[in-house]
Amino acid sequence: MGRTVVVLGGGISGLAASYHLSRAPCPPKVVLVESSERLGGWIRSVRGPNGAIFELGPRGIRPAGALGARTLLLVSELGLDSEVLPVRGDHPAAQNRFLYVGGALHALPTGLRGLLRPSPPFSKPLFWAGLRELTKPRGKEPDETVHSFAQRRLGPEVASLAMDSLCRGVFAGNSHELSIRSCFPSLFQAEQTHRSILLGLLLGAGRTPQPDSALIRQALAERWSQWSLRGGLEMLPQALETHLTSRGVSVLRGQPVCGLSLQAEGRWKVSLRDSSLEADHVVSAIPASVLSELLPAEAAPLARALSAITAVSVAVVNLQYRGAHLPVQGFGHLVPSSEDPGVLGIVYDSVAFPEQDGSPPGLRVTVMLGGSWLQTLEASGCVLSQELFQQRAQEAAATQLGLKEMPSHCLVHLHKNCIPQYTLGHWQKLESARQFLTAHRLPLTLAGASYEGVAVNDCIESGRQAAVSVLGTEPNS
Ligand SMILES: Cc1cc2nc3c(=O)[nH]c(=O)nc-3n(C[C@H](O)[C@H](O)[C@H](O)COP(=O)(O)OP(=O)(O)OC[C@H]3O[C@@H](n4cnc5c(N)ncnc54)[C@H](O)[C@@H]3O)c2cc1C
Repeated sequence: MGRTVVVLGGGISGLAASYHLSRAPCPPKVVLVESSERLGGWIRSVRGPNGAIFELGPRGIRPAGALGARTLLLVSELGLDSEVLPVRGDHPAAQNRFLYVGGALHALPTGLRGLLRPSPPFSKPLFWAGLRELTKPRGKEPDETVHSFAQRRLGPEVASLAMDSLCRGVFAGNSHELSIRSCFPSLFQAEQTHRSILLGLLLGAGRTPQPDSALIRQALAERWSQWSLRGGLEMLPQALETHLTSRGVSVLRGQPVCGLSLQAEGRWKVSLRDSSLEADHVVSAIPASVLSELLPAEAAPLARALSAITAVSVAVVNLQYRGAHLPVQGFGHLVPSSEDPGVLGIVYDSVAFPEQDGSPPGLRVTVMLGGSWLQTLEASGCVLSQELFQQRAQEAAATQLGLKEMPSHCLVHLHKNCIPQYTLGHWQKLESARQFLTAHRLPLTLAGASYEGVAVNDCIESGRQAAVSVLGTEPNS
């Protein structure tokens, strides 16, 4: 009888793992178990009354590098090429990003000329920070916070304005707590290998082989900075679900996994609310802290390592305005914690993807709220009402972008514990988890945003890698 693999979690990581398992030459029986009634996890696109698309989670995927190319290959395999909305290299959303500091928007410098010019809010041209970086010795610690790394190599201004904002933009996190080694591995590796980030990035880590397809070539030729799908990014998990069902994968929705126990023959019993499944192998694509509570007593050391991987919440407020205009054109702006502890940044959705503005069209922006402001509110135990987030977001749009009129449409979602935090020493948690799994030969593989990258590309790759480790070979792709 063939093997049975149960995949926990129907977010993009679990869907990608199931996809690659189902494409093996001799595929195992695959059962995907999802607690909610819909698949896609944080990837969720909603249509407004005028047909506009509002992304409640990710809104753009980067095509760069081998992982970006693999995701584009997946898009083509799913027949979605004609749905892709690219942001080409010469588009304002590809070229312009802003910081909101001192009550004003500042364009981040681009190109060599930009680095040589004075670029407020930085007191000196960023060229000087680069020069300083080239002369700094290599760090000696196995890990360091993002802030300490950036301060040591690039100086206090770059650390407290640029890197602080970047950590808020990507992880909704605190640069004084996040790990450089795990959050920005290419910067950490560049220093380790070449002593300098700039030298490392210039000389590169050698080209990783990457797949080839017409869509990938188009993305390279047109220098895409990101892409979405016409009906929103949720089209990707929806197409994956259709594909999985056609390949005979059993997809169970509305079925939270309540526990995992090991049977005498080394198989898993996966407990659901009113039933159970037997599995030769389990791929977990649910958050690490959730998995830690499902593991059996024999796996207590693994559960301890996983429970230490925490996550933060983000309130996403989508706003649409009729007849309004932005003061600048670009991808969006980030806000350092020193400027506003609650507003992480604002994405100018209409600039990147005007095709999704609906009819009659309206200007769409998304305000991301989080940081220490939200953490304090959550810890206080007070009621976190939709009105509170809407008001905070509208104020931010009015002050930072001059959007003072009432929005014609507004969506508010508090995503609890949605972004895992790779804090200082995250690599040691992964190492102890890996050692436990190897030493005890547990038929369990970890995938998902909790471990080695939160971007959609990273999650898809983690699912692919999980399939490789279960199959013992590269799946067909
Ligand atoms: C607001 C926001 C904006 C983002 N923006 C971007 C962006 O622009 N670009 C980008 O690349 N990335 C972005 N990301 C990151 C990216 O979207 C996520 O990291 C990624 O979608 C996580 O996928 P996942 O499958 O690992 O986890 P999840 O999406 O969390 O999926 C896990 C699934 O497991 C299910 N589950 C949980 N517990 C159980 C259980 N006991 N039994 C069964 N099922 C269970 C959940 O319901 C969920 O469906 C963003 C994330 C957020 C939250």
